[in-house]
Amino acid sequence: MTRKLASIVLATVLACFHVGFPANSADAASTKAKNVIFMVPDGFSPAYAASYRLYKGELSAMDSMLAGMVRTYSANSALTDSAAAATAMATGHKTNNGMIGTTPDGKQRRTILEAAREQGKSTGLVATSSITDATPAAFSSHIASREEESDIAPQQLENADVLLGGGKTFFLPESLGGKQKSRNLVEEARRSGYTIVEDRTQLQAAKGSKLLGLFAGGDMAPELDREHTNEPSLKEMTAKAIDVLRQNKAGFFLLVEGSQIDSAGHYNDAAWAMKDTQAFEEAVALAIDFATKDGNTLVVVVGDHDTGGMSVGGYGQTDAKLKVLHHVTASGLYMADKLKADRSNAAEVLKTYAGIDATAEEAAKIQNAEDTVHAINGIISERALISWTTYLHTGVDVQIYAFGPGADLFRGLHDNTDLPLLVAQVLHIDFKR
Ligand SMILES: [Zn+2]
Repeated sequence: MTRKLASIVLATVLACFHVGFPANSADAASTKAKNVIFMVPDGFSPAYAASYRLYKGELSAMDSMLAGMVRTYSANSALTDSAAAATAMATGHKTNNGMIGTTPDGKQRRTILEAAREQGKSTGLVATSSITDATPAAFSSHIASREEESDIAPQQLENADVLLGGGKTFFLPESLGGKQKSRNLVEEARRSGYTIVEDRTQLQAAKGSKLLGLFAGGDMAPELDREHTNEPSLKEMTAKAIDVLRQNKAGFFLLVEGSQIDSAGHYNDAAWAMKDTQAFEEAVALAIDFATKDGNTLVVVVGDHDTGGMSVGGYGQTDAKLKVLHHVTASGLYMADKLKADRSNAAEVLKTYAGIDATAEEAAKIQNAEDTVHAINGIISERALISWTTYLHTGVDVQIYAFGPGADLFRGLHDNTDLPLLVAQVLHIDFKR
C-alpha cells in the first residue's frame, strides 16, 4: 500500500467512525447545552438560500452554520406538510400529513419540548402564523387534525410559558368550537399568571415569567406589509421570548418559526419570500448573538420542507435578477387588494408597489387573470428571474444549520426524525423514540 493510499484508507475509516458514532464519551462533555433555540424557516430550501444571498448581496447569517441536509418525506407521502414534518422533528416519529404530535394510528408521542419541560426547563413558542398553526402545534400538542386549532390552543397553554404570534381567534369564546366552546383562554391564561399583550408596544414593556402575546386574529402580517400594523417583528418576539425564558436557571427550549416564508411560497411571491427570509435571518442573528455570549445554548435552524419548488433563473434566461425585488414594497395579496373592480389601474399598482413599468402585455395579464394575486406575483417573479414549479410543497431535501455546543452532531444527511434525539443528546435529557 502506498503512503498516499494508506492515508486515504485511514481518512475513510475515521470518517466512517465519525458518522457512525458522532458522540463518543470524550465528546459528551463538550456537547452539553442548557438551552436550545430551535428555529424553523417554514418552506425554506436550497433555492431560497441561494436566492436570498443574491437578494442580500452577501452571505446570510445562516450560511456559516451550515451543517447538513434533512429528508422531509412523511409517513404517507413523499411530499410532507408542516404538521407531519414538525411532528417528526418534535417527536421522532413519521406521521401522516395533517396529524399533530401523534403516530398515524393516533398514538400520542411525547415531544422534545415536553421532555425539556419535564426536566424543569422553561418553554416557548414564537411564530408569525397563528400560534396554533401546524409547526408550533406539533411541538406543544397532540391531535388528529391540524384543523382543530381551538383544541390545540389549550394544550399549548399547558405546555409553554411564552406564546407569541397570531391566532387570537382560537383563544376567544366567540370562535372556539367543539369541546372548548364558551371558554375564554386569554382570561384563563391571565388568571394562571400570564402577562397578556396585543401589540408591539405592549410586548416591549411586558414583564414576568409567563407571556401570551396574540397580535392578529389569524396569521400575522407579511413582513412586507408589517409597517401598516402595530405588530412586532419575528426578531422582536424572539428577543422578548429569550429575555423571559432565560430567567429559569434550569434553561429553556424555544421554538421559533418563520412561518410566512411558506405562505410566500404558496403564493409564488418572490419578494414576500425574500423579505420574510430577511426577517427570519434577523431573528437567527439575534439568537446567535445570545448563544455566543451565553456559551450554553445550541441554535438549530432547519426548514420543514420546500414550498413552491422555487428555482434561481428560468424563463430561458441565463441570469437571475434578485435585486429587482428590492423595489417591491408590498405582497401580491396587498397589491391585488388595491386593484379597482375593473382592474384599469393594474399598471399603476405595479409601478407604485413594485417599481415596475409594466408593458401592455403585463397589464393585460393582470386585467384578464382569474387569480390576480398569482398574476401579479408571476410578473414580478419573471422580472427577478425566479421560477416556481408548484403552488404546493415539494419533496426536496432541506438544509440544517447549527451553532453552539453539539453543533457537529448535525453534520451530514439526517432524517427529520433524528433531530429531537440529537437535541436531547445535547441537552442531556432522556428522550426515546
Ligand atoms: Zn411547513
